[in-house]
Amino acid sequence: MPGREVTEGARPEQGREEGLLRSIIEQMADGIIIVGKDGIIRFANPAAEQLFTRRADELVGTDFGFPIANGQPAEIHLVRPHGELVTAELRVADAVWDGAPARLISLRDITDRRRAEERARQVEQERAARAEAEAANRAKSEFLATMSHELRTPLNAVIGYAQLLDLGIGGPLTHEQRMQLQRISASSRHLLGLVNEVLDLAKVDAGQLALHVAPGSAAAVADGAAALVEPSAEARGIRFAVRCADGDDEQQVRYVGDEDRVRQIVVNLLTNAVKFTDAGGSVSLVYGRSTRPDPSARLRGAGAWSYFAVTDSGIGIPADQLSRIFEPFVQVTPGLTRPNDGSGLGLAISRRLARLMHGDITVVSRFGEGSSFTLWLPAADAAHPAEGGERPGGAGATNRGLADIGELLMRNIQPLLDAFVARVRGEAPVAGAAALRFSQLADHLASYLADLAGLLIALEDADGRPTSVLAGATEIHRVVAGRHGAQRARLGWTVGAIRREYEILREEIEALVRRHGSAIAPAAVDEALSVTRVLLQQAQETSTRALTRARGTEDTP
Ligand code: ADP
Repeated sequence: MPGREVTEGARPEQGREEGLLRSIIEQMADGIIIVGKDGIIRFANPAAEQLFTRRADELVGTDFGFPIANGQPAEIHLVRPHGELVTAELRVADAVWDGAPARLISLRDITDRRRAEERARQVEQERAARAEAEAANRAKSEFLATMSHELRTPLNAVIGYAQLLDLGIGGPLTHEQRMQLQRISASSRHLLGLVNEVLDLAKVDAGQLALHVAPGSAAAVADGAAALVEPSAEARGIRFAVRCADGDDEQQVRYVGDEDRVRQIVVNLLTNAVKFTDAGGSVSLVYGRSTRPDPSARLRGAGAWSYFAVTDSGIGIPADQLSRIFEPFVQVTPGLTRPNDGSGLGLAISRRLARLMHGDITVVSRFGEGSSFTLWLPAADAAHPAEGGERPGGAGATNRGLADIGELLMRNIQPLLDAFVARVRGEAPVAGAAALRFSQLADHLASYLADLAGLLIALEDADGRPTSVLAGATEIHRVVAGRHGAQRARLGWTVGAIRREYEILREEIEALVRRHGSAIAPAAVDEALSVTRVLLQQAQETSTRALTRARGTEDTP
C-alpha cells in the first residue's frame, strides 16, 4: 500500500509493515473495504470484489451505499447480477487512510449459515406442527371412543324401551302411535349403526382396537360375506357371483388377518357395490393370490399377497373424487350420484383395518361404468413383516376387554339367535318346538342381548362401580324376561323347558366369546362371562316366575 496507511504515524519499518498488512488483507476470506468519511470507497480486497461481483478499480471512487456505524455487527443483503441474494455480516472499525480518518469495513458472507438456520427453523416448526396435529388427533380419537360408549348405552335403552312400548307394555297403541314408534326404532337403529362406526374408526385411530391375527381361508371369508350380501343383491335384481381367480386353487388362497375384520371389510365393499349398482347390473367377488399387487397399494415386503376384488357395473366414481373416498365422512358430491343413506365412514374404517393388518385397499373406477375395490392382505405362506407373532392394535389393545366383549356380542346377535333357535328346535325341550316360527322362539332375545352387550360396555366405563351400573341397567332385563316367561306360558312351556333354554343361551354366548375372544385379556373374558351368568340366572328366575304366574291365572279362570 504505497503512500497509504491504515495506522497512524510513520515509522522506519513502515514499508515492510504495509507490505505485510496488504498481503494479509488480500489473503483474507472476509471482504475488506475502506471508506472515507465522505462514504466513498477508497480500497477493496479480492474477497470484497467477489462479494460485490465488481472489480476493485470499479468499486473505488463509488459510494458504499450502506449505512455504516461502529459497534454491533449489522447484516446487509446484496443482489448479484443473476438475482442471487447474498447476506453479509458487516463490522466497522475506525482507521486512517492516506492520513485522513476513514472506516475499515469487514464483510463476511453468511448466506449459507443463514440458509441452514432458516431450514433448521422450518424443520423444527414442521416437527412441532406435526406433533401438535398428532396429539390433537389422538385426543380427538380418545374423545370419540369415550363419547361413543357414552352414546351407545342410552341409545340401547331408547331402542329397548321402544320395543317394550311396541309390545304393549304401557297399554295398547293406536295405529298412528305404532307407526311413530317404528320411526323411533328405525332412527335409533340407524343412529346406533353410525355410533358403532364412529367408535370403530376412533378405536383404530387411538390404537385401541384388538385384532386377532391368524392365517385364514379366503374362500371361507368370501362365502361368509357373500351369504350376507347376496339376498339384497337378488332383491334389487343385480347379478351376483363369487369365485376363486382362474389358475388359483381355492384351498390354497390363505391370508393372514383377523377373520371377523376381513369379513367386515369384504361385506362393506360388497354392500357398497350393491348400493351403487342399478337393477340389471352385476357385482362380483373374486379372491386369489398375486405376487404383483396394484402398485398404488401401500404394502411392505415382497412375496405373495392374497386379495379380494369386488367389481361392480354401477355408477362409478369421478376421477377427481377417487382419492377422497377413503377419508372419513366423505361421500361423492351429491348430484353426481344418487342420494345415499350411508355415513361416509365405511371405506375409511375398512382401509384403516386393512393397513392395521399390513394390507391395503385399492380402487379403480370409471364414472358411469363401474368400480373395482381390492383388499390386499399378506398371503399366509409368504414371509411378510406381518408374520412372526406381531399383533397390530398396540400394547394396550387387551386392556379394554369388557367393552370388546360387549361389542363382540353386539355384532353377533343374529348368529347367536340363529344358533339358539336351531338348538332349541333340535333339542325340543318342549314338544312341538320344532314346529314353532323363528320369531316365536327368539321372542325378545334380540333386545335382551343388545342390552346385555350395552351393559358390558357400560361396566367397563364404570371404573370399579359395577354394582351401581348393574342395579340401574337390569330394568330392561327384568321387563323383557317377564314378558318372555308370559310368552312361554302361552306356548305351553314348562319351568324345565325355560331352564334348558337359558342354559342353551348361556352356552352359546360362552362359546362365541371363547371362540372370538382370544385377543382379549383372559381376566376380562372371565369377568364378562361371570356377569353374563349372573344376569342370565336372574332373567331365568324372572321368566320362571312370570310363567308360573301366567299359568296360575290360566288355571284359575
Ligand atoms: P357410505 O357408503 O356409507 O357413504 P363409504 O365410506 O363406504 O361410505 O363410501 C364413501 C363414498 O364412496 C360413498 O358415499 C360413494 O359416494 C363412494 N363409493 C363407495 N363405493 C362405491 C361403489 N362401489 N361405486 C360407486 N361409488 C362408491
